[in-house]
Order: sequence, then structure tokens, then C-alpha cells
Amino acid sequence: MNSPFPRPRILVSRCLGFAACRYDGQILKNGFVEQLQAHADLVPVCPETDCGLGIPRSPIRLCDTEQGLLVYQPATGREVTSQLQTTIDAILRDHPQVDGAILKSKSPSCGLFDTKIYQGRVDLQFLKKGAGLFGGQVLHQYAASAIEDEMRLTNLILREHFLIKVFTLARFRELSDRPTMGALVAFHANHKLLFLAYNQSHFRLAGKIVANHEQLPLPEVMHRYRVELTHILDKPMRTPGVINTLFHAFGWISEHLGAEEKQYVINTIEEYRDERLPLQAVTRLIEAHALRFAQNYLLGQVFLRPYPRALAGLHDSGRGREVR
Ligand code: SF4
Repeated sequence: MNSPFPRPRILVSRCLGFAACRYDGQILKNGFVEQLQAHADLVPVCPETDCGLGIPRSPIRLCDTEQGLLVYQPATGREVTSQLQTTIDAILRDHPQVDGAILKSKSPSCGLFDTKIYQGRVDLQFLKKGAGLFGGQVLHQYAASAIEDEMRLTNLILREHFLIKVFTLARFRELSDRPTMGALVAFHANHKLLFLAYNQSHFRLAGKIVANHEQLPLPEVMHRYRVELTHILDKPMRTPGVINTLFHAFGWISEHLGAEEKQYVINTIEEYRDERLPLQAVTRLIEAHALRFAQNYLLGQVFLRPYPRALAGLHDSGRGREVR
């Protein structure tokens, strides 16, 4: 049977399980990236080795200077900014559209938020944390995509958001390849509960675009919808929006349930509100009732199954949310 899920295109730092290309000749095992390989098209890239710095190599540093941000190799005294930038330009040119990226944290090239940046290039003094040379340009070029580093993805909320976003964007990319008004209407309808949970006001704006009372041509409608989709998926879902959506979904099955069963579902939603149960526990319960009563509207909602079940996991480091 064909998978009901699209295969997202995701750029990945090559040292995260693909090659021993770190400056010290090491490779990093990453269970999440390993799991994703069966469900996504991963594109491993390594700006530092692809630009010819070699393996192993002396570490490079990102330096804030009067000439701007420079990449400097203290052990050799070489400045390698343009060498690295040429390779970065080629990677970005070769991959004009991706649904997401998973890059190595803290790297002077791949880091997204926590790379050390030094003042000047003599007597390197720590100045601040920020994006690496490649990571910063990935954030800029793919601003609407799901971009994370491997450390932040150890946080359950950020990982779920990444998965939901990357699979939703891949679904929309497939729709955009062969757009029709009917397919857009169906996309919006199937994502109704998910988008309600994410951002109610932008969901409503997206609904107006789909209704197309102004009779705009399809390319313009698709463009406007894409902009709203970016707003909807900008930040992880927040608990109040999720609770409203869960009660909305509950409304589709409650008439079939006895008093005790209803109370059981309500208690389960409240346990999620009190952070005693993960969201997946509640959506599974609602899905079980939807199956029992053949509630096809609910069963068609992406909210109940936003990404392949094999990628679901509950481990949570709790780290990373403070960075953005
Ligand atoms: S962090 Fe980026 S540049 Fe450094 S080894 Fe990994 S893929 Fe290569």
C-alpha cells in the first residue's frame, strides 16, 4: 500500500550520521535522522569538507571584524571566508526548495542559533552566540521551511512541530506542483483542525483566500495561501489552541458516547492540559472513537495523524526552547 504521507525534502548536516567529516574526523550518531531516512528524502551536505578544508582539519572560528563576519582558522592563520562562501552558494543554488533542514548545532558553518562568534581575529574574545555562516543563510533562504538543529530536536514540542511543519509543507509542495482549486479546497478542509490548533486567526484568513470571492486567478490564490500557511506554521501549537481543537473534535463523536465515556474523554483532555499526558494520547483516544463510529470527517483530519506514526517518540530533553 502506498504511504498516505509525502516525502519531505530535508537538508541535513552530513556529520549527523552520513560521513565522518567533522574537524576531528568523527561522525555523530543521530537516532532521529536515522528514523527519518525511511520517510523523507534527506540531502546530506558539509560546507567545510566540500570547500576543501580536509578531514581532519584545524577548527575554524567565526569572527566579527570591521570587514564583517569572517571565517578564520587560528592554527594556520588562514582566512577561509570566500572559500567557504563559494561552496555555500553552490549548495543553495543546487537546492532552491526544501521543506526543512536539520543542521549541526554550535558549528561555525552549520550552527543556527548557538555558534560562538568572536570579537576580531587576534586574541579571540567571545562576543556572542548566533548563526554559523551556512546556518544563517539557510535560515534566510528557506525562511518558510522547518529549520532546526539536532540539539533543539531533542525537545518533544520542537520535534513535533518540526515533523508537523515539514510534512504539511511537503503536502503543499506536491499540491503546488499540480495546483487546482479543488485540491486547494480539499487541502484546507483536511487541515482544518490542525490549523485551528496552530493559529485560529490565520486559519480564518486562509479560509477567505480559498473562498476566493474576488475571483482571483489560481496562481495568485496559491501565492496568497502559501503566505498564510507560513504564518499558521510559524510557531509550535500552544496548549489553549490545542484544547479548543480537541473539544471541537470531541463534538463530532460525543453524541454517540454514553455519559461515562464522555467524561473519560473530557478527563483525558484535562490531563493533557495539566501536562500529565502527551497530545498523542488524546488524539489516539479520539481517533479510536472516530474509527468505532466510522466518523469519516474526523478520520480525514490531518490533526489526528500529521506525520508517520513510526516517527512519534516521547523522549524529551526539555532543552532548546529558550533559544528563539
Ligand atoms: S557541522 Fe557542518 S560543516 Fe561541520 S562537519 Fe558537520 S556538516 Fe560539515
